[in-house]
Amino acid sequence: MVKSNLSSHRTLILNSTFQPLSIASAKRSVTLLLSRKINVIKNSTAEIRSENKTINIPKVAILTYYVKAPYSRRVALNRENIFIRDYFSCQYCGNKAESVDHIIPKSKGGEHIWSNVVACCKRCNLIKADKLLNQTILSLKKFPEKPEGNFWIKTIIGSNPDPEWKEYLISA
Ligand SMILES: [Zn+2]
Repeated sequence: MVKSNLSSHRTLILNSTFQPLSIASAKRSVTLLLSRKINVIKNSTAEIRSENKTINIPKVAILTYYVKAPYSRRVALNRENIFIRDYFSCQYCGNKAESVDHIIPKSKGGEHIWSNVVACCKRCNLIKADKLLNQTILSLKKFPEKPEGNFWIKTIIGSNPDPEWKEYLISA
């Protein structure tokens, strides 16, 4: 195969049930394609040339068999994933989130769990400080919950998925 800069090409791999499963590199998706482990749903214009044929790198492909997502795909409770869950917006005022707030402060016995953490902006974080919510003028836009289902795929894809993946990420 001809070596070219394919590092920016990624393929969204769907489980046989059409649920998003993972993101594969160009090389990996071509390997899966050649071993008939995936079928192409959407091709990109990027291609890999071998001696006798040209293979389009898929943008979206579906596995020909079902994979049970491993338990390791439980979403880690960290700053980045809290931001993704909260759409990078402050859960008190809606501005751009810049930090994470413990709703019940750690100093008052608040735990570091999904239902006690929210993304928040600098201003609200200053207002909130080490106080309980009812001691401030702030209120939550919605009750924070532990992400369920296919949320983890968002943490793999990040905040800037390929626009052509969009319709296949609805169930995520
Ligand atoms: Zn705010």
